[in-house]
Amino acid sequence: MTPSDPKLPANNRPDPNLLANIRIVLARTSHPGNIGAAARAMKTMGLSQLVLVDPAVFPNSQADAMASGATDVLARARVCASLAEALADATLALGVSARRRDIVAEVLTPVEASTRLLAEAQTGPVALVFGNETSGLSNEELSLCQGLVTIAANPDYSSLNLAAAVQVLSYEIRQAWLGQASWPQPEMDAASGDEVEKFYAHMETALTELEFLNPGSPGKLMLKLRRLFARTRLAKEEVNILRGILTAAQEARRAAPREPNHGPK
Ligand code: SAH
Repeated sequence: MTPSDPKLPANNRPDPNLLANIRIVLARTSHPGNIGAAARAMKTMGLSQLVLVDPAVFPNSQADAMASGATDVLARARVCASLAEALADATLALGVSARRRDIVAEVLTPVEASTRLLAEAQTGPVALVFGNETSGLSNEELSLCQGLVTIAANPDYSSLNLAAAVQVLSYEIRQAWLGQASWPQPEMDAASGDEVEKFYAHMETALTELEFLNPGSPGKLMLKLRRLFARTRLAKEEVNILRGILTAAQEARRAAPREPNHGPK
């Protein structure tokens, strides 16, 4: 008897709300057929939340044709102008990419990612973010993610078709979901994407006011700070504390500005 067996008592069956809280985000998709094929891949595994960020062509007949019996997933797909908008209410976003980058510290396997997403999906929406067919995920897109998922593939040819990558991750999520009826509660009240983005924006403003960051040549400071915080993951309360510190520093600087000769030359 598997945990999904309807004869099991209700509290031993996997919770469908967990799958409903897992969002598949496709960033800047070029080919509408891939959007349809991704919708089909999702529906076969019980996922339904598709979000499209700035797709080149959508809605489209090729997308419908490739979706086959999953046109309902396409019909309910949300289209967003930016990835930040797609992740605003998510407490965990994992970027799916074949390439290791230095933007995101943590690299997970699909199995590890599935476990993490399902546990976190108990409290709210979580997301898997897939990149454009040609260019993959940009560094800016990855900087909005707290971890990276890589499908271990043939090192001589490791780039799967976009919808095939969606299928692999959706399958692993379903296997993990079927295999476990209850998940450990996340140990903290994680900040949402929007709360974390507002914190970064506040930090950038404060560091500029403190003349630590020169907006004329910012270098990679903000990207490095994003990576630092993505590594720890931020709780709502921690974001509030950090923003309080920034505000205190800004107020102190405004009350006692630097002598002009100490400013930037
Ligand atoms: N040329 C692109 C590949 C894009 S394939 C690049 O090098 O990044 C389209 C998307 O499918 C990727 O952005 C990623 O989300 C997913 N994908 C394809 N192969 C993958 C792999 N081996 N591991 C993780 N994601 C993969």
